[in-house]
Amino acid sequence: MPQLSSTLGHHGAHEAAPDPARPNTPALVDRFGRVATDLRISLTDRCNLRCMYCMPAEGMKWMQAAQLLSDDELLRLITIAVTRLGVRELRFTGGEPLLRRGLEDIVAASARLVPRPSISLTTNGIGLERRAIALAGAGLDRLNVSLDTLHRDRFTSITRRDRLSDVLAGLEAAGAAGLSPIKINSVLVRGINSDEAVALLRFALGKGYQLRFIEQMPLDAQRAWDRNEMVTAEEIVSSLRTAFALEPDTRDRGASPAESWLVDGGPGRVGVIGTVTRPFCIGCDRTRLTGDGQIRSCLFATTETDLRALLRCGADDDTIVRAWQDTMWAKAAGHGINDPGFFQSRRPMSAIGG
Ligand code: SAM
Ligand code: SF4
Repeated sequence: MPQLSSTLGHHGAHEAAPDPARPNTPALVDRFGRVATDLRISLTDRCNLRCMYCMPAEGMKWMQAAQLLSDDELLRLITIAVTRLGVRELRFTGGEPLLRRGLEDIVAASARLVPRPSISLTTNGIGLERRAIALAGAGLDRLNVSLDTLHRDRFTSITRRDRLSDVLAGLEAAGAAGLSPIKINSVLVRGINSDEAVALLRFALGKGYQLRFIEQMPLDAQRAWDRNEMVTAEEIVSSLRTAFALEPDTRDRGASPAESWLVDGGPGRVGVIGTVTRPFCIGCDRTRLTGDGQIRSCLFATTETDLRALLRCGADDDTIVRAWQDTMWAKAAGHGINDPGFFQSRRPMSAIGG
């Protein structure tokens, strides 16, 4: 058996006796009645931007090639998730997933699985201009592009790279390649782009993109998150209301972390993900796989299960299935950010997959 315990706090969940309270189902159920059907897969922790709420300007320590799952290892885990554990949605993320060599082949292999999962990508959009057609052809269904500002100087301040025009070109190419819907993720940073909510929504509505604002979360690698600096969901909604009439969207929210609002009577909508101030953990349907093969039951989990170690010591599929099920069964009720004892995961967002 591989050594599964480390200072990162890995679960050796598959080694423990099965919990008799867990229902006898292959699905990724937890103690609170949730079922994880949405697998977020981080393909790399590396990135070509350095967004200030995500990473420091310098000094990131990247995973080494040998630490990352190979394409074969990754596809074995994806296949188990889809064919044995009831996962129906795959989202590739990172770090920046477009930096993963062979992304198109990974998407194509995932699209051949039966039942066919839905496949999406969360990206900063750099390089998408050249790859959108191939990705759509490989079977990518949808994508989210992160864009926090429409001003070049602000983009450079936030991301520490002068690449706004690449992101905008990537968005255009994604639309031309038929990828739909295109969602935009925006994080507002006080004093830099916190006055831009209205302009971002006008831009998104004009282009037919679905915009979602995300509250800043304590997942930055430099651990500089400050609750008092965060632009809250309430502030975002108030700011949008200076220019638009917003009514709550009464459609079933499903497992979406975003609260949805109808804009000026619809059909345009805007989403606000208030992870910190309006948590929606009770509806969560996610399970996460990091680039180095760790399963996490939550973005904010402080323990993880080392499937890479299992893969590399020759474990069979049944063992991996059990380890994954046990990890999700142990999922906490909520992220605990607002609890006095909250402590930030040692693994930053860029190494988990946002
Ligand atoms: N590089 C890709 C991108 O930026 O879309 C994928 C990975 S990134 C970690 C995924 C999403 O997380 C992005 O929309 C980004 O804005 C968001 N994000 C990163 N750090 C965050 C933080 N501390 N709080 C809230 N959202 C964050
Ligand atoms: Fe890179 Fe995405 Fe993090 Fe920005 S948010 S630094 S694009 S991983």
